[in-house]
Amino acid sequence: MPSADASPLAGNACPRDYTVPMNGQPHDTALILVDVQPDFMPGGPLACHEGDAIVPGIDALLRARRYRHVVATQDWHPRGHVSFAANHPGKAPFAQITLHGQPQTLWPVHCVAGTPGAALHAAIDWSPLDLVVRKGTDAAVDSYSAFRENHGPDGARPPTGLAGWLRERGVAEVHVCGLARDVCVLWTVQDALALGFRARMLWALTRPVTPETDEATRAALSGCV
Ligand SMILES: [Zn+2]
Repeated sequence: MPSADASPLAGNACPRDYTVPMNGQPHDTALILVDVQPDFMPGGPLACHEGDAIVPGIDALLRARRYRHVVATQDWHPRGHVSFAANHPGKAPFAQITLHGQPQTLWPVHCVAGTPGAALHAAIDWSPLDLVVRKGTDAAVDSYSAFRENHGPDGARPPTGLAGWLRERGVAEVHVCGLARDVCVLWTVQDALALGFRARMLWALTRPVTPETDEATRAALSGCV
């Protein structure tokens, strides 16, 4: 006879106690690290303002092992990606266009799949990571949020699968940091809330493309910073 512990139904009969903290945060809380990649650091093609300032703090947070669930996103584009200004003759980086019926900023070429600038930042010990979500791999669709890509040709925003991954692990709350505060981090927090998670932005461990956006970001996140 197999023991009760060996039964695949044991988890249903004896749900885990998600209220017990493990070295810090409760088990139902996940950390999401957004796009901590060299191309978004000062000196990179799409540098965030003081983007490198968050690296030591994120490294310390991971080393402290405060979260049971740790997810990183990695911007990971083909060279022909639609978000690159270089793929739109006559358009400069940061120009606005309409793409699939939605406003789209054109960016400098960044985070091309397999290049050093697309790697997870080398000054961080990533060993606590449970999952890496690569986004922006479809040449025709940009992808800011960890949860859903931007609007595609059919007007929908395809899910990345992260919401299901988190829910199957009993996660109800996410803490989000990384780059950029005003784009991919913001969209991730907003999508988390829309999908029914509790969500917080760890403001000190984020940096924006430009600090002029901070007021608007705070306003968009009222209560979640
Ligand atoms: Zn990108």
